[in-house]
Amino acid sequence: MPTLTGRNTRTLTGYAANLLDYPRWVIEREVDFTDCHLGGSFAEGDQRCAECQFGQACCWLNRNRATPSPNTPLEELLSALTTAVDYLRSSVRGDDAHPNQCECATCLWLHDASSFLRTNRHKT
Ligand SMILES: [Zn+2]
Repeated sequence: MPTLTGRNTRTLTGYAANLLDYPRWVIEREVDFTDCHLGGSFAEGDQRCAECQFGQACCWLNRNRATPSPNTPLEELLSALTTAVDYLRSSVRGDDAHPNQCECATCLWLHDASSFLRTNRHKT
């Protein structure tokens, strides 16, 4: 998993920002903009974006493509994290390649991210 060095992972926001690295990396590889009429710039309210199979991932990516600044409110990071967890969870759920104790990068990330969210959701 690529992580940036020098980031303060001992603060809640630093830890949350770090957790966002993995889904950004996965989603950027998953979404295919070859046929996108907007070249990957998600537009709220655009009918084609609403119907696009990559709509949800693309929308997330457009909000979270940049590494969050140290001043990003925790609430915002947690909400981006929640969406990423839902997205990745739905991509592994019911897939035989990911049994309950699966140790692939995605399942391990989901485990970390969900327990982080469980612990910190009430703090915003
Ligand atoms: Zn897995």
